[in-house]
Amino acid sequence: MRDPRHDILFTPLQIGPKLAKNRFYQVPHCNGGGYRDPSAVVEMRRTKAEGGWGVIFTEQTEIHPTSEITPFIEQHLWDDRDIPALAHMAEAMKSHGALAGIQLAYSGINGPNLYSREVPLAVTGGPILTFTSDPVQARTMDKEDIRNLRRWFQGAFRRSHQAGFDLICLYGAHGFGILQHFLSRATNHRTDDYGGSLTNRARFLREIVEDARETTKGELAVTLRMSLHEAGAYGFSNAELRDFIAMHAELPDLWDLANGTWEACSGTSRFKDEGAQEDLVRGIKDLTPKPVVGVGRFTSPDAMVRQIKTGILDFIGAARPSIADPFLPLKVQEGRYEDIRECIGCNICVSGDMTGSISRCTQNTAFMEEWRKGWHPDRARPKGASETVLIVGAGPTGLEAALQAAKRGYKVTLAEATATLGGRVAQERQLPGLSAWGRVADYRTGQLAPLPNVDIYRDSLLTPEDALAMGADHVAIATGSSWRRDAVARLHLHGIPTDPAMPLYTPDDLMAGRCPEGQSVALYDDDHFYMGSVLAELLVAKGNKVHFVTPAVKVAEWSDNTLEQGTIMRRLLELGVEIHLSKAPETIGAQEMTLGCTWTGRQSALACEALVYVTSRTPNDHLYHAAKALDWQAAGIRSLKLIGDAAAPGPIAWATYAGRNWAESLDQPNSGDALSFRREIAALEPGVSLLP
Ligand code: ADP
Ligand code: SF4
Repeated sequence: MRDPRHDILFTPLQIGPKLAKNRFYQVPHCNGGGYRDPSAVVEMRRTKAEGGWGVIFTEQTEIHPTSEITPFIEQHLWDDRDIPALAHMAEAMKSHGALAGIQLAYSGINGPNLYSREVPLAVTGGPILTFTSDPVQARTMDKEDIRNLRRWFQGAFRRSHQAGFDLICLYGAHGFGILQHFLSRATNHRTDDYGGSLTNRARFLREIVEDARETTKGELAVTLRMSLHEAGAYGFSNAELRDFIAMHAELPDLWDLANGTWEACSGTSRFKDEGAQEDLVRGIKDLTPKPVVGVGRFTSPDAMVRQIKTGILDFIGAARPSIADPFLPLKVQEGRYEDIRECIGCNICVSGDMTGSISRCTQNTAFMEEWRKGWHPDRARPKGASETVLIVGAGPTGLEAALQAAKRGYKVTLAEATATLGGRVAQERQLPGLSAWGRVADYRTGQLAPLPNVDIYRDSLLTPEDALAMGADHVAIATGSSWRRDAVARLHLHGIPTDPAMPLYTPDDLMAGRCPEGQSVALYDDDHFYMGSVLAELLVAKGNKVHFVTPAVKVAEWSDNTLEQGTIMRRLLELGVEIHLSKAPETIGAQEMTLGCTWTGRQSALACEALVYVTSRTPNDHLYHAAKALDWQAAGIRSLKLIGDAAAPGPIAWATYAGRNWAESLDQPNSGDALSFRREIAALEPGVSLLP
């Protein structure tokens, strides 16, 4: 039964002409699929509708080719031919009574137009402000351009209406939308009536909100997604935002508040807690009679209720919590709190967008596979002909494999060598800032516990003979990986000369409590994600003087994709970590190492008493190979598979995906060389023929 204190989350609320059925508001979020994978995105949004969200939005939808953010893949609404895919999306969003929203964006100074090759247009011209420092400048819009822009927006309003959306969100947050560029003195240097005073800088917003109402005949709600705070002397500050809202209290049908930069808004759990934007949002509701939505990686219903009861928010905005658990609202509604799959705040989902691939989620293995593979975040397809499965290793791979196989109806045996379930996350959750990662294990162990068809054996180090003797139809070996105790990774493909007198440590050592203390320690990071910097923090906490050595040009460079790189760099500098960029060890002595510059080869010496290698991992695949060498088929085993980190080490999201993929594949007909997922291929224009 639902706790009556949570009832308020299910009170309908009006947004202009539309009524939202509850307070769960899926704010716009990217997914790496966008216009390239229309059906994959549609089915992803449909699961949110099924999961009970009151409002569901598209990702950023680019309204005109003079402003696009290739290589990032979002939506297009450039002409009428884009309407069908978006109409399909609106239909899916509305399938269970949610309101369907479209976020319209014109990127201005943020759009390099690498694909359309149009000259970028901005409030004030200058170099394009993107993550990628594209060597492109935008031209300052003149009055005619501004009139054109209004007309392009009007076209997008008409098309959004035609596509069946209920809400239009005008994007002016994260530094990405032109509305913010108009409002901010950092990006608006104009001296005409669109620049200068706040009234002038807000002129374009007033104009297009009016245009939106007129074009859609007042039938659609119009929301403004505003930046909460832009840093810097000229930035659109929180104080100025409050002035703007007070001056335009009734302008939109809803205020949607998000932090100034995407990095600040979507901080990882390592650096930001749930509800981190509260101070910036508090009091804004008092300035306007219109409802307010804000985000904060909310996964706890108590925290959500508090936001509403204390008058901070009217709607609970969520992107990542809705990705990790599209059924969050329904689970709260039905009081199934223990079934909530909480976001761990790792931003792997963001990395799908940043790499232009397709997003995945560490927690929700079905994310963006709803259409491609027919996976569902909560439902499992019924089992096939065989009955029993054995999974060896209870890390993220093994736990997900066990859960999904059990949900399908197989009788599951899960054997784990240690006393603790969770594998790598049981270790990594102890590291500075990574405690939320424990949710990967907690959710799965919690779900497995009540299932009658699951037997879990702890302290059970299986031998190959044991694995064969268990009598399972299918065996998965998910025995993980171990960090290497040498320099071999990307730069060094072979070991380097090493004096055995130098004490060497790996992340596994440090996580097991074997850690240098009070020494001068070099940490060599050729992994480039989070582990190196997290261990540097741990080493500092243990009183060490830390030298962070990396062959890359910046620390933790892949964490650009999780929006953390800048924060990691700041943290290391604040902790007094000495950073050696574009350097790698060439020889290791007893008390020092020789570093080589990766560009010039110039050598230097670095004195240190211990060396921590964060390089690469060796798969723990000996059990698999030994079992495979035995006559496993004669033991009645139909399939023997190596999965997860034991097959190919990667981030935790790769491990949970591998577990799901294995469970889904059980008893599936062998599809040979056929593609394992559905995809859409751009159609040739009518009249184009390859035939002579
Ligand atoms: P993954 O990320 O692929 O799940 P982990 O390293 O997190 O990999 O987990 C692997 C788990 O497998 C660890 O908990 C480890 O204790 C367990 N394990 C390794 N070898 C065996 C074995 N022979 N029998 C049972 N469990 C094992
Ligand atoms: Fe949350 Fe990580 Fe999933 Fe993103 S990938 S929704 S941050 S658990």
